[in-house]
Amino acid sequence: MSERILVAVAWPYADGPLHLGHVAGAYLPPDIFARYHRIKGNKVLMVSGSDQHGTPITIKAEQEGKKPAEIASQYHQQFLDSWQALGISFDLFTSTETANHAEVSHDIFLTLLDKGYIYRATVSQPFCPHCQRFLPDRYVEGTCPHCGFSGARGDQCDSCGRPLNPAELVEPRCGVCSNPPRFKDSEHFFFRLSEFRDRLLAWVREQTHWRQNVLNFTLRYLEEGLKDRAITRDIKWGVPVPVAGFESKRLYVWFEAVIGYLSASKEWAKSCGDSEKWRSFWQDDKAKSYYFIGKDNILFHTIVWPAMLMGYGGLNLPYDVPANEFLTIEGRKLSTSRNWAVWLPDYLSRYDPDPLRYLLSINMPETGDTDFSWHEFVRRNNDELVATYGNLVHRVLTFVYRNFDGCVPSYEDMGVGDTRVINMGNSDLRLDNMSGAVFVNVGELIAKCSFKQALRMAMTVAHETNRYLDEKSPWKVIKENRQAAATTLYVALGIISKLRTMVYPFLPFSSQKLHHLLGFEGNVEDYGWQIKWPTPGQRLLPPEPLFSKLEERLAEEEAGRLRQVGC
Ligand SMILES: [Zn+2]
Ligand SMILES: [Zn+2]
Repeated sequence: MSERILVAVAWPYADGPLHLGHVAGAYLPPDIFARYHRIKGNKVLMVSGSDQHGTPITIKAEQEGKKPAEIASQYHQQFLDSWQALGISFDLFTSTETANHAEVSHDIFLTLLDKGYIYRATVSQPFCPHCQRFLPDRYVEGTCPHCGFSGARGDQCDSCGRPLNPAELVEPRCGVCSNPPRFKDSEHFFFRLSEFRDRLLAWVREQTHWRQNVLNFTLRYLEEGLKDRAITRDIKWGVPVPVAGFESKRLYVWFEAVIGYLSASKEWAKSCGDSEKWRSFWQDDKAKSYYFIGKDNILFHTIVWPAMLMGYGGLNLPYDVPANEFLTIEGRKLSTSRNWAVWLPDYLSRYDPDPLRYLLSINMPETGDTDFSWHEFVRRNNDELVATYGNLVHRVLTFVYRNFDGCVPSYEDMGVGDTRVINMGNSDLRLDNMSGAVFVNVGELIAKCSFKQALRMAMTVAHETNRYLDEKSPWKVIKENRQAAATTLYVALGIISKLRTMVYPFLPFSSQKLHHLLGFEGNVEDYGWQIKWPTPGQRLLPPEPLFSKLEERLAEEEAGRLRQVGC
């Protein structure tokens, strides 16, 4: 029976390029997950978009003498190009600057207002007399009152992770000019988050399938109590506030960006020609929604967005929020301001997508931070993709292609004639059973968002098949016993065919290539998540290596470049 799965992916902020931390944290995991469910025959809706509003974009625009929309659409286009090159398979990647998004945000705002979950209050807002503007929370800096971190921002402390108000900061300063701000009165709307604490607590306690770090972090936070939060601000760039008298203000970006999951689903439905189609992913209680985010975003997805959904009513709450930890680069914390990052467009301009997908999957920061190093990138590419998996495929396909007329060995080649029962011995059966069990296991692990373990399991099949071939040596046996060699090679082709499907969610480009090399038509996805042996006698394509070896010196060169531009 096919399931309905909403794959909701964090909205990247359109003020700069993507880096590998984004990919490992929030973009590769949902793609693996969505590809798996699609090939399994489930109905998947994978949406996201660029988060185009907020202050950093307006400040960057001022610095560059452009309009915020120009900056945002420039990065939006770059994101689209990156998704395509890396194979991140969104059903829709839109932006928060659409009329549809504003309309859906207004609906949520007005419904919450109507139900009494939103109220007005006058607050004193930081105003920089030097810059002559109200300062958005994240542009006030100072010392965190909770942990004493001196670089805390007015919206959140990056050291202890607690959300903050600018007024709570000790010795606040303007994030643009460093002068101390004054506080001026301004009327704003607030979301009554505090009222949802008990309902949230009861709901979160039931989510025992969540990752331990996500569950613990959320519970700890809820136990401390919730504060109401401002959802409008004094800024000109963003979604307008649908209430008279608030023309000079905009919805706060944290409030409207999370609504993007819903507005994107509605936009997708319209683009399919059936504007009600989103409902089956949001209102059917059997549909499940998974939110893929980095750990810095947990609270917005386990507390704030669920509270908004509870207040609005009639929409599914998140089923799971598999937040990832962080990726460090060459042993150091990734930092965009210090340019200590590997930028995705830069990577994609020089290397293939699958080796990166492989490394970031097999080393995914699921339960703790992991490190990316160029040395490991080259090593894993050469030792694992090329020498273990790629070489297995290539040596079998080349040998079969040369010795069996460019075809999968036929029943006749295997000496079973009309019976069509392949004469498998103990070691053949052992490998077949082992790989079949792994196949099932890999699927279960992906469904549980244990991607690292799933790929590691799949790779054991490549190892075992290499061992099996070394033992069986069909390259020698063929001289005395062509039928026995044909059977061994047929078994190896069957396992390779299983691997093609098993690693497809991780390595879609090379799996698709292998699919054609094995003589299958169409797309890997068309064949489903099932074990499909090549038909004896099936025509193969001329073999080509799946992966290319990288020179060792690349690791040194790339790491050197990073040290040169980063600080
Ligand atoms: Zn702190
Ligand atoms: Zn200032």
